[in-house]
Amino acid sequence: MTNQYDPYEQMLSALDMAAENLGLAMNEYTTLRHTERELSVSIPTEMDDGRTEVFTGYRIQHSSLRGPCKGGIRFHPNVDINEVRALAAWMTWKCAVVNIPYGGAKGAIQVDPAKLSSQELGRLTRRYTAAILPLLGPEKDIPAPDIGTDARVMGWIMDTYSTFMGYSVPGVVTGKPIEIGGSLGRKEATGRGVVIVTDEIAHRMGIPMQKAKIAVQGFGNVGGAAAKIFYDKGYTVIAVSDVNTALYCENGLNIEEITGYSKQNHTLKGYAAKGVSEIENEQLLTLDVDILVPAAIENQITGKVAENIRAKVIVEGANGPTTAQADDILSKKKIIIVPDILANAGGVVVSYFEWVQNLQAIFWDVHEINSLLKKIMLRSFEDVYSLTREKKVSMRVAAYMVALDRVVKAKQIRGMFP
Ligand code: GLU
Repeated sequence: MTNQYDPYEQMLSALDMAAENLGLAMNEYTTLRHTERELSVSIPTEMDDGRTEVFTGYRIQHSSLRGPCKGGIRFHPNVDINEVRALAAWMTWKCAVVNIPYGGAKGAIQVDPAKLSSQELGRLTRRYTAAILPLLGPEKDIPAPDIGTDARVMGWIMDTYSTFMGYSVPGVVTGKPIEIGGSLGRKEATGRGVVIVTDEIAHRMGIPMQKAKIAVQGFGNVGGAAAKIFYDKGYTVIAVSDVNTALYCENGLNIEEITGYSKQNHTLKGYAAKGVSEIENEQLLTLDVDILVPAAIENQITGKVAENIRAKVIVEGANGPTTAQADDILSKKKIIIVPDILANAGGVVVSYFEWVQNLQAIFWDVHEINSLLKKIMLRSFEDVYSLTREKKVSMRVAAYMVALDRVVKAKQIRGMFP
């Protein structure tokens, strides 16, 4: 989002820190400080009243060193190109940290999808897909959902690409509806991954989850799913929020009921139950909890917020929720952060399963998917955690080190063209 914290600069500072800890000279990773390819497009769209509105969109590929570029598409009114660059780079590191054979990319359209009719949204998505078509393909670049997009939007992308090709290409996009090649378990995969790593970090730190208090910021695809899975496991979620409000209950919220309310009303605002009060969004971040899960957007935990954070552990469901300044403050306060590129990787892991299923034209059941997801998340957690211990660095630096090492090795093996 347009604001004082440039997410690309924040990404670079974490990257440089990891490179330093790996003992890499600038020349060995300088390429990775730049995006590989950037496409900016104008998207003329016919509105329902007959007017033509021209939207701005992007698709940015950060790296294809380890495989096809992979990453979501965001529809948000404040999205800017530097944010998309950072999000693309984070996808490279995320795919490398969980060791799946992808590079990183991200796309976006500057639009508030809530203000468009379904027809307008469909026309916008299809025209955007046509505009970025030369970049896309199951071997080249595979989009997925992100903030403001969903399975329906992915279905339009799949259809538009397939129409141009002249045959059906389900593997060009992930997070599709099940009926056209989507994967079981994909929708809640990011939230499920967040819960897997939360359980693991709590276990390592000796925090009993059955007694822990949890706050979740964001009630979308990531926060909503994570809160629900926490609740189903019998954990106590004492606060949740969306863009409109935050709900708090000292003894734990009924997430099942709140999920139903949110589905029906498209907001948490107005939800009422015994013992539940509405609090300010920022208050949620500084509640007296064991686990804090920021699962909304970037730069929510600023230096100022970090000073007041009381959680023992932060599990980053969102991409880039913590500023570099906040990171320093939290580390001084000995608050453990499970970083975004590890914590929220469950989504792209199941996207990878979806793509593999599409390429092989065979489908897996949800148990196979969830158990393989768990295996990959735990393996990646261990890779990062053991490096944290060994090198005495934060989990963020360790995660970047694991990722950068893998990407740099791929670069060394491939060599530079020409
Ligand atoms: N948008 C999600 C992310 O930031 C998922 C990306 C994907 O599945 O390709 O990780």
